[in-house]
Amino acid sequence: MHDDHPDNPHAPVARDHPMTEFERRVDAVQTLLIEKGLITADQVRRRVEEMDSRSPTLGAKVIARAWVDPAFKARLLADAKAAIAELGIEFTQEAALVAVENTQKVHHVVVCTLCSCYPRGLLGYPPDWYKSLNYRSRVVVDPRGVLKEFGTEPPPDVEVRVLDSTADMRYLVIPARPAGTEGTSEAELAELVTRDSMIGVAQARTPALR
Ligand code: FE
Repeated sequence: MHDDHPDNPHAPVARDHPMTEFERRVDAVQTLLIEKGLITADQVRRRVEEMDSRSPTLGAKVIARAWVDPAFKARLLADAKAAIAELGIEFTQEAALVAVENTQKVHHVVVCTLCSCYPRGLLGYPPDWYKSLNYRSRVVVDPRGVLKEFGTEPPPDVEVRVLDSTADMRYLVIPARPAGTEGTSEAELAELVTRDSMIGVAQARTPALR
């Protein structure tokens, strides 16, 4: 239980290990903000619940629309937050959101070299490897080597661009639309869009043979 602040009613209830230094700091700040009346515990809970509800299916919906609607794709590339709002998706993060397109000429891959900045509002929580020092340090130095470990090998004439996210800027990769999907419906296309393809370490899936 929450031995450090036995009277603190806002203490996380799920913790079953001793608090780390970082957790103590977060807890202290949150407790102060609540005591000073700046936020409420319910607001914190609602925000966490809202973040937990996000998943890559949101991003996949956006990508599928961009694939079938060139005008939407243009708007997405021009102003991503406004474009996703058209689909009823509110990007609650304060950071700017920038969409980039993978083509036959350029392949984008996203990292946060400093920590783990990620478009959570569209993709949910980042995978563990995205947060690892290994990925963060190596992908900027040897992007093709790291991509190869993910099974992704852009042709030599394709320029590989690494985008470094920050607290102010999040990126969404629009993967190339897979070949052979001319007659595929928007909903079926969305199923080909994976989390990793929107980070840029993978291509979108190719449709299963029928
Ligand atoms: Fe970060």
